[in-house]
Amino acid sequence: MSMKKVMVIGAGQMGSGIAQVHAMAGIDVILHDLKQEFVERGMATIQKNLNRQVEKGRLEEGERDAILGRLTTSTDLQNAKDVDLVIEAAVENMEIKSKLFADLDQIAPDHAILATNTSSLPITEIAAATNRPEKVIGMHFMNPVPVMKLVEIIRGLATTDEVYQAIEDLSRTLSKTPVEVNDFPGFVSNRILMPMINEAIYTVYEGVATPEAVDEVMKLGMNHPMGPLTLADFIGLDTCLYIMETLHDGFGDDKYRPCPLLRKYVKAGWLGKKTGRGFYVYE
Ligand code: NAD
Repeated sequence: MSMKKVMVIGAGQMGSGIAQVHAMAGIDVILHDLKQEFVERGMATIQKNLNRQVEKGRLEEGERDAILGRLTTSTDLQNAKDVDLVIEAAVENMEIKSKLFADLDQIAPDHAILATNTSSLPITEIAAATNRPEKVIGMHFMNPVPVMKLVEIIRGLATTDEVYQAIEDLSRTLSKTPVEVNDFPGFVSNRILMPMINEAIYTVYEGVATPEAVDEVMKLGMNHPMGPLTLADFIGLDTCLYIMETLHDGFGDDKYRPCPLLRKYVKAGWLGKKTGRGFYVYE
């Protein structure tokens, strides 16, 4: 199954990175979002990343222009009518994703695979919104997408071996390392990472230590390249909260209850780096 044309839905942090790595691998990409200003913001991020590569001498100007030439933008879902693959990277919300997948199922060609970059929502439930659950799969990239090597590939209950293989092959084409996992809340990555981040937030909430101190302990003591609160700001605190809620609902176990301080920050609009403020302040 060859991937010649891909639509990426959501031009945020993840979607713009996903679009970039596909265009860099020679694949035509449509970057789609709700409003033109959102796609333009995503395109500007890609352009900035590629310019930085040119400045560092890692990319020729001609290559950059060719990559940008493979990217087109969209605010109309009908543009999915002739793609081989859709990768959805809209907000972490089941209602929004289910609606998108139901619509995409009507628009995308029969052979097209519908993938989601969800961090934690059940692939099987997203697939149930379509009439092609065998062609629905999780393709979970890490942030920042152009840098991080892992793609966690999640099989839904009905995902076929052929579809899994196509996505594994594609991940290697993107110079990523695929890891196969099954569909349970949080998969592997966030089932382990998010409770650690949530616990770090509890230590701040309970006055055990400052965010700086928590991050320092985990960096110097555990050899983590980045402290958990810096990482939470980087991921987005809204996304962190959605994932904790998914773990909490999915397992029904109180050990996954989201920290009230995390809820408070999200309510305040302190979503981390993307809004300029989270556990830290960003200029
Ligand atoms: P983001 O807020 O940066 O971007 C989301 C984008 O989706 C926004 O531009 C928004 O306008 C757009 N959008 C929302 N509803 C839409 C719709 N109906 N149709 C089209 N576009 C729509 O979020 P993000 O951090 O890029 O996360 C996107 C997805 O990737 C989420 O499912 C998240 O869980 C997952 N994810 C995030 C990370 C991370 O570190 N941030 C890592 C892995 C996976």
